Amino acid sequence: MKSLIAAILFTSLSLGVFAQSKPTAKASTPTTAPAKKVADSYRCPICGYTGLKTGDCPKDKIGLVKVGDYYCPECYMTNAKAGKCTMCGVDMKKMEAAAPSGTKK
Ligand SMILES: [Zn+2]
Ligand SMILES: [Zn+2]
Repeated sequence: MKSLIAAILFTSLSLGVFAQSKPTAKASTPTTAPAKKVADSYRCPICGYTGLKTGDCPKDKIGLVKVGDYYCPECYMTNAKAGKCTMCGVDMKKMEAAAPSGTKK
């Protein structure tokens, strides 16, 4: 009699455990990493020094050009859009982004 109760208890216990360990529907969390936002970078039109904020090149003492902006190859005046330099009349050049990291150690 005692053993029967124990057996029933054991069975219900294990059943309960089994019910609890039933795999729950996993909420699939999409691991879509947000597109890596490329931070603005600024480059020296002379030596190619790249900085993360606006300022002057520590070497050439001239204003860094924001990547994507245009600069005059003669006087290094910058402009947000293409055109001719208002000072020299030469075509502005677009400041290209620095080479992808990894090429330089
Ligand atoms: Zn420089
Ligand atoms: Zn110019």
